[in-house]
Amino acid sequence: MSERAADLPPFVPFALPEIGEAEIAEVVDTLRSGWVTTGPKARRFEQDFVAFLGGDPALQAIAVNSATAGLHLALEALGIGPGDEVITTTHTFTATAEVVRYLGADVVLVDIDPATLCIDPAAVEAALTPRSKAIVPVHYAGLAAPMEALLALARRHGLKVVEDAAHALPTSCGGALVGTLGSDATVFSFYANKTITTGEGGMLVTRDPALAERAKVMRLHGISRDAFDRFTAQAPSWYYEVVAPGFKVNLTDIAAALGLQQLRQAEAFRARRAAIAARYDAAFADLPVILPPRPGAAGATAPDDLHAWHLYVLRLADDAPALGAGRPGAGGDTGDRDAFIEQLYARRIGCSVHYIPLHLHPYWRERYGLRATDFPHSQRAYERMLSLPLFSAMRDEQVDRVIAAVRDTLRGAAA
Ligand SMILES: *Cc1c(COP(=O)(O)O)cnc(C)c1O
Repeated sequence: MSERAADLPPFVPFALPEIGEAEIAEVVDTLRSGWVTTGPKARRFEQDFVAFLGGDPALQAIAVNSATAGLHLALEALGIGPGDEVITTTHTFTATAEVVRYLGADVVLVDIDPATLCIDPAAVEAALTPRSKAIVPVHYAGLAAPMEALLALARRHGLKVVEDAAHALPTSCGGALVGTLGSDATVFSFYANKTITTGEGGMLVTRDPALAERAKVMRLHGISRDAFDRFTAQAPSWYYEVVAPGFKVNLTDIAAALGLQQLRQAEAFRARRAAIAARYDAAFADLPVILPPRPGAAGATAPDDLHAWHLYVLRLADDAPALGAGRPGAGGDTGDRDAFIEQLYARRIGCSVHYIPLHLHPYWRERYGLRATDFPHSQRAYERMLSLPLFSAMRDEQVDRVIAAVRDTLRGAAA
């Protein structure tokens, strides 16, 4: 290592999973057990997940190998197909929308409410056509989307609702946990940087027995019984029937072992992230920035609702200093934000942007002829936003480093 590199402060990563000895022991136990694919631990993870959400006996949890797969299974089970339109937010990851295209249906992207950064119910209403079949709200950053308005709108127009809850473990809306809100299905992600992780994984949650049955069959090749039943039954049980051309998106017991132990810490992880977010809020209150929306400030949430704090998204205010010296950016007027990120990186702070809106990506833009001016709120948020490091394993001195870097960058430029 050169002397110069040795002098640099350690890099503060944007995200890092928190994996302890309990997870490692549970995975080793699985490896020694002789059962590594979907089996007893995946089943226990599903049961524990329902318990985590309050234990409603009508609620079913279906473990899958990604949230993408869970969204796909949910929409497939609801019968979404060619000729149908599914409405979702442009301000999301492409997975939210791509699953609609898997099924041959069309995606209708709408703008966000800048007060919540979640899908705007008025924009959904304005986008309705006779082909509209479903809405996929995203609980952006871990703040609940305005579910009361969206569910009422869906009921009025006979639409299905599948929640993309990839950021929302745990999040509440009007006092009820996301996953129990009365939509048709809710899908959580356990990707490496999510609030709990199984490496790759997801959970589809529903109270609809027909949806659950179809999703379980389609999760594993369209076979009417799962592999665990077939291979562990005491009676001879070689016989099975294929009832549909299904998929292969089951969660392994190795991954479920991780999930079992992560889930037990989900609330402690959330509390730690919330404490870091509160420190950020206090430290940035006097800066020319827009702080992340909080529960109760807007939308359908109440002040005491849970925010999962998957992301801490800061936006440069309109009167923020010109960090980028008027240079052009990618996909809009992003010069100041891009320079902000570069200056934080120079101070050895990792950050990210959530998201490059779908309307700016070539596939979505060209397929649906989208323009940035169709989505003014998402576009403006994108041009001015960045996500700061926020993860439960973050140490106080790392939080201090982020705070100092943000303050130095903005105040240094203003001076
Ligand atoms: C991470 C993410 C997904 C996809 O989750 P996977 O488990 O990686 O498939 C979907 N939607 C949103 C909003 C996400 O952040």
